[in-house]
Amino acid sequence: MEISEVRVKLVSNKDDRLKALCSVTMDNEFVVRDIKVIEGVGGFFVAMPSRKMSDHCEKCGSKNHLRAKFCNNCGTALSENRAKKDIKGRMKLHADIAHPINAECRRKIQEKVILAFEEEMERSKQPGYEPVEMDEPDDEVPEIVS
Ligand SMILES: [Zn+2]
Repeated sequence: MEISEVRVKLVSNKDDRLKALCSVTMDNEFVVRDIKVIEGVGGFFVAMPSRKMSDHCEKCGSKNHLRAKFCNNCGTALSENRAKKDIKGRMKLHADIAHPINAECRRKIQEKVILAFEEEMERSKQPGYEPVEMDEPDDEVPEIVS
């Protein structure tokens, strides 16, 4: 698989670890959107598109985010720590929608995306810079997975 194009929309929110949203074209024929550039303690890294996981209230069956303490619909107290834990004991709140299945592919995507991100950062400093048009997803920044 070759990465044919990376489009980068910079996110300018100084308090946020989310630095850019990207869409990546593979082999000129398949596009994955909502790939994120996140600022971690060890530098920038790439997070795959993910969705928040949820579960259902035992009393009324409504869907709630795993971090919710009370049901959105009926107000019943929900048990804390009901999210599954990862191997490091952190709550697993997001599930990847698309992701590489081996380290080599992850490295390839990460390199291309970070490079495109750095180029876009440089471009954004030029006068007359026009940011890429892209829809923003409404979900939050995923937990850091190292
Ligand atoms: Zn409920």
